[in-house]
Amino acid sequence: MKLGSIQLPIIKHYSCDVLVAGGGVAGISAACSAARNGASVILAERDGCLGGTASVGLVGPFMSAFDPQGKRQVIRGFMDELVARMVEKGGAIHPRDCHGGDGYSAFRVKGHIGVTPFDPECLKETAEELCEHYHVKLIYHMLLVSCESDNGRVSKAFFATKNGIYEICAKAYIDCTGDADLAVAAGAETVYGDENGRTQVASIFFMIDGVNRGRLEAFVGRHPEETEKRQRYLEDVVEKAIADGTFPCGRSRVSAFESVNGIWRVNMTQYDEPADLVDPEDVTAAEIACRKQIQPLMTFLKEHVPGFEHIRLLCSANALGIRESRRIVGEYTLTIEDMAGGARFEDAICTVGSAVDFHGTAKPDGSYDGAYYISGDACAEIPFRCLLPRKTVNLAVAGRCLSADQLAHSAVRVMPPCIAMGQAAGTAAAMSVRNGQDLRQLDSQALRAQLIADGVALEGV
Ligand SMILES: Cc1cc2nc3c(=O)[nH]c(=O)nc-3n(C[C@H](O)[C@H](O)[C@H](O)COP(=O)(O)OP(=O)(O)OC[C@H]3O[C@@H](n4cnc5c(N)ncnc54)[C@H](O)[C@@H]3O)c2cc1C
Repeated sequence: MKLGSIQLPIIKHYSCDVLVAGGGVAGISAACSAARNGASVILAERDGCLGGTASVGLVGPFMSAFDPQGKRQVIRGFMDELVARMVEKGGAIHPRDCHGGDGYSAFRVKGHIGVTPFDPECLKETAEELCEHYHVKLIYHMLLVSCESDNGRVSKAFFATKNGIYEICAKAYIDCTGDADLAVAAGAETVYGDENGRTQVASIFFMIDGVNRGRLEAFVGRHPEETEKRQRYLEDVVEKAIADGTFPCGRSRVSAFESVNGIWRVNMTQYDEPADLVDPEDVTAAEIACRKQIQPLMTFLKEHVPGFEHIRLLCSANALGIRESRRIVGEYTLTIEDMAGGARFEDAICTVGSAVDFHGTAKPDGSYDGAYYISGDACAEIPFRCLLPRKTVNLAVAGRCLSADQLAHSAVRVMPPCIAMGQAAGTAAAMSVRNGQDLRQLDSQALRAQLIADGVALEGV
């Protein structure tokens, strides 16, 4: 690999049909789906476990896999397989058993029926088990740093390791790094945040135990007939504290999700400064700032929320939770109008019922500047073209770096659609290798037929 004028020696070389870079939920799904469809697959991940934001970032639950009415499960396929294994081990609760309005959904209903609470440890273990099951070659501690490409065709990807530079040659490549690292290395165009380069705020999750669920339920359930308003009682706590100047910092909402085994995940820190979330210095500043918010938030929760009097901090995430960084400019860019109008596409690869959930910057009074939570009535579809960076031929992305405008992105960045995108990209990559075609030449109807055969809930094939 060339670093300026210096030629770095390649310490190890691998080859495979499909290389997946990044092992978050999208990467796990992409790698297993490509292997299930006959490809030899390497999954290269920079950390020492799988899951990304879902494990290292402690983020959960999987947001709803259901339509906005909470009636029909619209994300299935690989997600069902992953969830079934975790449920069997007692490490997750099936989305059909989560009805909204309770601790599993942070006492929200709209858009929160059919979430999947899970234990991040169980996710790590189950994801490794699935890779083994599908014969995915998994290599940790591999940071993708560069690639060789010619006219949009990637021929090699380079990884920095403790042992020097490793090289992987594949026929098809899937970028599941969340930040579109491989797409950028291949020269693909990306966008960052809004027109001013501002992204949604980043946060650090933390986990607690010791919640007295009965006391909390009694507080938020003062009017059980008002299921839709249960979260309101928690919002009142924050609004009152903001008004009397006792709210310490972070998100102006008590956002705590019951997980499994009596553990709760708290999503209340946030970093409001403009930041380049692919720059280590900015990311470090955000991590330090968010961790500083945890103890004041713990004190606030203990003092103000009935049922939280005796909570204990178990751990904070090892890495900043990044909602949004670089998004590719793909063959199609999903728009907020598509989401609102329940758009359908000939090359649809999944159906999503997720709400537009945009986390803007906090204003001094604690309210959001540009925060939206809109749960529409219709499901929209994601077309395969959103996964194809323009001007590349054998590269797809999956997960939160898809091609979408910022508001549409805020709906489809959640984990169930990321898993579904991974399945589509992995299946497409395996089919393209099998047919000797480039990814962009693939017959989208054949892809859809294969996805349906593999359990994806798609209509109209
Ligand atoms: C604060 C916060 C709250 C959220 N709340 C929810 C929620 O409640 N429910 C929900 O469903 N979703 C939620 N989301 C969204 C969701 O968690 C993420 O969008 C989703 O998990 C992204 O998955 P991914 O696989 O695309 O990317 P990531 O999880 O970012 O995974 C990327 C993987 O690639 C690896 N990687 C990165 N760069 C490289 C490289 N150069 N080389 C090799 N490996 C690399 C990383 O280590 C990581 O494992 C939240 C996100 C945040 C940040």
